[in-house]
Amino acid sequence: MPSSIIKRFIIIAVTVLWLWPSVCHAQKRVHSVYFEGTDYELHVYRIFGKQPGQTLMLIGGIQGDEPGGFLSADLYADISLVKGNLIVVPRANFQSIVLKRRQVNEDMNRTFSNERRSNYEAKVVAILKQLIQESDVLLNLHDGSGFYSDTWEGPNRNPMRFGQSIIADCDTFINPQNSQVIQLGEMAKHVIERINKQISNPRHHFHFNNHRTSAQDSLHKEQRKSATYFALFTRGIPAFGVETSKSLPLETKVRHHNIIINAFMDRFDIIPETPGLNLENPDLNYLVIAVNDTLPVVVKKNHTLFINPGDFIRISHIEANYERGLSADIKGIGSLNDSRKKFVVQHPTRIVVRKDFYPCGTVFLDFNAGHTQEASDIRISVASAAGPAVRFFKIRTNGKTIMVPNGDRVLLNRGDVLEIIDVIADGIASEELIVNFKGFVGNKRYNTGEDRGYPINTKTDLWSRYSLQKLGKSYQIVVTLDERKIGKLIIDLKDPV
Ligand SMILES: [Zn+2]
Repeated sequence: MPSSIIKRFIIIAVTVLWLWPSVCHAQKRVHSVYFEGTDYELHVYRIFGKQPGQTLMLIGGIQGDEPGGFLSADLYADISLVKGNLIVVPRANFQSIVLKRRQVNEDMNRTFSNERRSNYEAKVVAILKQLIQESDVLLNLHDGSGFYSDTWEGPNRNPMRFGQSIIADCDTFINPQNSQVIQLGEMAKHVIERINKQISNPRHHFHFNNHRTSAQDSLHKEQRKSATYFALFTRGIPAFGVETSKSLPLETKVRHHNIIINAFMDRFDIIPETPGLNLENPDLNYLVIAVNDTLPVVVKKNHTLFINPGDFIRISHIEANYERGLSADIKGIGSLNDSRKKFVVQHPTRIVVRKDFYPCGTVFLDFNAGHTQEASDIRISVASAAGPAVRFFKIRTNGKTIMVPNGDRVLLNRGDVLEIIDVIADGIASEELIVNFKGFVGNKRYNTGEDRGYPINTKTDLWSRYSLQKLGKSYQIVVTLDERKIGKLIIDLKDPV
């Protein structure tokens, strides 16, 4: 191989290795919850594109009776991006949303000026101000009254109405700190020209609404306390109010918000990924299981459901971080996918949940000890705090299958053939474990350390230097989870006399 090719290969390999951790671990989505458990719980989604770019912030639901805005913002919390970033606050004023009111203590969109208050609105706005600091452009999504028009056409269509407009606090802003010029009017008109082509009814077209908020004769001086005014005048970033008309059906309002957000994303070179790609590790949350047709119970991942021999169970729901591709396999019963079917359980077993072919969690079925209990006594135990542990080794020697408790020793004649069939573990699907017979190599072409399923001739297949004290008499079978040892069995060999 010519050295230049080798050199190039090394450079590529090193680059890949160097990039790998950041590529793998780059978080594409960060969900933060503020004021958790309160009536004004605040959820913030930061979505990072695969390529760097500008950050667009979306505020929805700053006033609770404007669902077009917050239901649109909500859709962007789940988006994936090729380029640029989003900060999505779908429900800025959750309490007012639940109450379906514009405001609770005061109008949240009039609390961005620096007056000190101690109500919940002020606490939320303090967070929103920090998020605006992280952003390059802000859209505050509203549903407004009537239809904005720059001329008086009637009580529902005039310069004081808000609906079907994109609002800015001025047409051209010159940042006094860095002399940067922000052409708000140009940006809004560019978006409006594009999106009006998608709205067939000209009466529903959008218009640019310049509030001239800081002007002496502004019609909207109250907007000096708004989020957009704060973003523009304090942070120096372009900021717009997007107002659909409350007179339009909800679906139309959401759709109009969507096309405007999409057009702004395009304008700021923030590129969505379609279809969105999400490859986070599948993870089971819980199963919903009914025993003998009684009320179903929730059994969390790694927990044990205690039933009686002969009870029948039915898994009615799998809750995981994915909705599709899920199956639940009751080991030793039924087929690959045993959800939504009734099965009689005669032996303690476990339910392995998969997303496609990935095991994503296990739930255990065990029997109540002693006397038979009523179905109402269904117990669910919490997984041990110590984490997953091996309970049994299922092995076959000379044609006989036996279950050996973890930590035990098994005495065999040298020359007996042993096969490790499986291990039964608490708190983990056995597929996720490595079961390694020290001194035996199962897959000789590519030694993974996994030795289940191979006939092991204890006379010819073992390397004595891996035996205990290298004496060739006792060998260990070690079970590991992510290189952590969680189970062990010792095989003692005696020479036949
Ligand atoms: Zn509003």
